[in-house]
Amino acid sequence: MKYISTRGQAPVLGFGDVLLAGLAADGGLYVPDRWPVLSAEALSGQPGRGDYADLAAEVMWPFVDGAYTRGRFDELVQDAYTGFGHPDVVPMVELGDGLWLMELFHGPTFAFKDVALQLVGRLFDEELARRGERVTIVGATSGDTGSAAIEAVSDRENIQIVILHPYGRVSDIQRRQMTTVDSANVHNVAIEGTFDDCQDLVKAMFADPAFRADHHLSAVNSINWARVMAQTVYYVAAATRFDQKAVSFSVPTGNFGNVLAGHVARQMGLAVNRLIVASNRNDILTQFFTTGSMAVSEVHPTLSPSMDIQVSSNLERLLFELLDRDGRRTAELLDGFRATGRMQIDHRLATQIKRGWSGLKADDAETTATIADVYGETGMIIDPHTAVGLAAARRSRGELEGPVVAMATAHPAKFGDAVEAAIGKRPPMPPALAEAVRRPEHCVRLPGDLVAVKAHVARCSAVSSA
Ligand SMILES: *Cc1c(COP(=O)(O)O)cnc(C)c1O
Repeated sequence: MKYISTRGQAPVLGFGDVLLAGLAADGGLYVPDRWPVLSAEALSGQPGRGDYADLAAEVMWPFVDGAYTRGRFDELVQDAYTGFGHPDVVPMVELGDGLWLMELFHGPTFAFKDVALQLVGRLFDEELARRGERVTIVGATSGDTGSAAIEAVSDRENIQIVILHPYGRVSDIQRRQMTTVDSANVHNVAIEGTFDDCQDLVKAMFADPAFRADHHLSAVNSINWARVMAQTVYYVAAATRFDQKAVSFSVPTGNFGNVLAGHVARQMGLAVNRLIVASNRNDILTQFFTTGSMAVSEVHPTLSPSMDIQVSSNLERLLFELLDRDGRRTAELLDGFRATGRMQIDHRLATQIKRGWSGLKADDAETTATIADVYGETGMIIDPHTAVGLAAARRSRGELEGPVVAMATAHPAKFGDAVEAAIGKRPPMPPALAEAVRRPEHCVRLPGDLVAVKAHVARCSAVSSA
């Protein structure tokens, strides 16, 4: 399988190069040069021994064929999903009236990013070992993604990871999920500043070519193709349970990575009816899917912070498809968007999108009401991100044929305050989470000063050659 850039100007690469590159050299995102068709085994929902890892290896194999032997790939995939706290990895719960929840939060950090990152960390390490290379992953986090990245690569031999978070500005549990990981290759830094300061420091380090090369800087952000690939699997797992009756999915969305994976599964031949893009008050995608145009505004903090995003980077992959895979037109559209903060696609495309997609939003009041309703009706406690998706699913239910699966993206215990405000009590902590966050913390505190942070990253990257 070969990969091409959405902007048409970067070299065509194989899977291993795409995995390590992240962003393409022309600023675009890598996508496969054609969509493989799901095999009969994958569509049976239960290839091999019938567990999630077997299905995952079968669905993903065409994307990585040529980069691994099948036996080694199967091993890496099996290993990635052994750390999940549920035998089904991504279990489904029926809510009644044709509505289901798919729980994507049984991984080590109790949020859906583990499903992809647990595999991607292993694929990274394997590719680096094969090349005899090492990298230093550097990232900034406002709380949620840092821990998933740390868990994904802790104790991997060829990787050091340095994660900056704003000192005193992430929740206690989010900080502890990162700082209690006791691995020689994990380096937490609390920056005296805001999340934006952290992100600016990371950008400045990547923008320094000598520093970047000397310390082999790398990233595992949400535009990485391998993350999208790993997420297509649970759409197949869900739809095949319904015997190929067209299933709709409602997905709480930030960077558009999760729901894009549903589109990939559909391109591979899965019977997907509607993909519902669910947003919070930051509703730029709702504008796009209802009107075909969108305009950037400021980011508003909400009860679902992992979705507090204005520019959803993975949307570029869908735009590329809509523009018949024309890299030049995709680049033009995105350059215009960057320059003006506005984008409009033509009327024909806007109408075409509505056949397979809808965009809905739920504000904080509806999020809270949904958490309370579900608790009142079923006794189940859901987190605020899940509630946004479920609110959109419920509002769409009447107009859709077939089952609707809402993606549950975080364990409610990670967002105890929002849950308590909705139902008057805190969700129980899963024992593994309670136990993990009680361990000693490892973190250094630094001023928001580029020279100091670079010196620290240089020391951390040197650990790998020790
Ligand atoms: C990251 C995240 C999302 C948004 O996922 P995208 O792939 O960025 O659309 C939703 N919910 C939770 C809990 C997340 O951590």
